[in-house]
Amino acid sequence: MANPAPFDLVILGGGSGGYACALRAAELGMSVALIERDKVGGTCLHRGCIPTKALLHAAELADNAREGASFGVRTTLEGIDMPGVNAYKDRVVTKLYKGLQGLIKSRKITYVEGEGRLVSPTAVSVGDTTYEGRHVVLATGSYARSLPGLEIDHERVITSDDVLTMDTIPASAVILGAGAIGVEFASVWRSFGAEVTLVEALPHLLPLEEESSSKLLERAFRKRGIAYQLGARFEGVKVTDSGVVVTLEGGETLEAELLLVAIGRGPVSKDLGYEQAGVEVDRGYVRTDRYCKTSVDTIYALGDLIPTPQLAHVGFGEGILVAEHIAGRNPVPIDYDGVPRITYSEPEVSAVGLTSAEATKRGYDVVTMTYDLAGNGKSQILGTAGAVTLVAAKDGPVLGVHMVGSRVGELIAEAQLITNWEALPSEVAALIHPHPTMSEAVGEAHLALAGKPLHAHG
Ligand SMILES: Cc1cc2nc3c(=O)[nH]c(=O)nc-3n(C[C@H](O)[C@H](O)[C@H](O)COP(=O)(O)OP(=O)(O)OC[C@H]3O[C@@H](n4cnc5c(N)ncnc54)[C@H](O)[C@@H]3O)c2cc1C
Repeated sequence: MANPAPFDLVILGGGSGGYACALRAAELGMSVALIERDKVGGTCLHRGCIPTKALLHAAELADNAREGASFGVRTTLEGIDMPGVNAYKDRVVTKLYKGLQGLIKSRKITYVEGEGRLVSPTAVSVGDTTYEGRHVVLATGSYARSLPGLEIDHERVITSDDVLTMDTIPASAVILGAGAIGVEFASVWRSFGAEVTLVEALPHLLPLEEESSSKLLERAFRKRGIAYQLGARFEGVKVTDSGVVVTLEGGETLEAELLLVAIGRGPVSKDLGYEQAGVEVDRGYVRTDRYCKTSVDTIYALGDLIPTPQLAHVGFGEGILVAEHIAGRNPVPIDYDGVPRITYSEPEVSAVGLTSAEATKRGYDVVTMTYDLAGNGKSQILGTAGAVTLVAAKDGPVLGVHMVGSRVGELIAEAQLITNWEALPSEVAALIHPHPTMSEAVGEAHLALAGKPLHAHG
């Protein structure tokens, strides 16, 4: 094929970051080529956010059926039809995939299917064709990492990609890594009836979150019968006829049907021509400035490929930022502290802003306030336990909001406004929250921090 006329923008990778950049750039009048070797939508749509949240919703229905009697509703859980669950999950993904393909088409983006490679500061090749761009955006995302010597065989030793194609539920599983992905799969599998053990090298589940949130999650998981080993280092795994035997440092062994490796994700940057084109790469991650511009003036990079939080909405934000920067719109760089993060397990864990440890490290005189969901009417109606914890500067603004409980993911958007607008506890306390909602817990936490607690003990 003859090489097409040069584009304003050539984007390599059509995941959350790449396609968001393409959509915004097209909106701003740029001609865009979007190159994708698999399916537009990337990890989030096909192997991440969306399919896992569909599984978690099915898991919630299973829990509700199992627990109906405690609400006076006679339900029993007859079982989980895993092919049926997958069919539901796939329907959701397919619908969104079609919608996204329609969006790409309607914005007149040139969509190129194939494996791309950066061949100069202004060009990406796909097979024999070269796509020239005034600017190039690298958005090749991430892959599930493993440990040296820990071989993924995709049958007994698996990654999250493998789980999403499984038509069965394991009777038992060991999950290596208690970050968001490990914790979410532990939650799903337990709801579906599996015996699960999480193994985490650091001292807590979700070790990067506020310690009190981790402890509440640990308590909830203990009640749910989800086992965990904290501060436990993985030493090795042996695959047997019936499953796996996982050995921890110190010699303890755990037997299970399979081992899910969820220790994090690494950047996809190898052998793609990045360094040859002059792009600075550090341990696989592309280095950028606050506008996601790399060491080469014409090349930007974003999403999981750069060392910013590996979240789909961060990719969206960076995609928009890059398109606007290239268009000369003078966008404001992203404040990553202000980005909310949610683990969608049962119970959910959500957070925005600084943890108390981080705030202290940055020199704030920190005050915290925890409001227990025991005092929140809606939480009692739902039968959930947890808390809202505020981290604030003494006599100053709210720096972080940390929550645990069913559905607290939906509450984080308000918390995001509070921390990003640097609201004072007294300002939030003056806002009347609707009763009975879980959002009241956010209001009550601020009432308590402002010195006028309402439904709070002690
Ligand atoms: C199990 C799981 C659950 C998750 N849940 C959430 C969640 O609930 N919320 C959240 O915010 N985030 C979640 N994430 C993270 C989220 O999926 C990622 O942060 C997001 O997808 C990153 O977007 P990206 O565009 O940087 O990369 P990706 O989505 O990985 O996209 C990169 C794209 O580039 C393509 N590509 C790579 N190399 C080439 C090449 N040489 N040529 C052409 N194409 C190429 C790939 O095929 C891929 O489509 C989850 C991730 C996982 C694995």
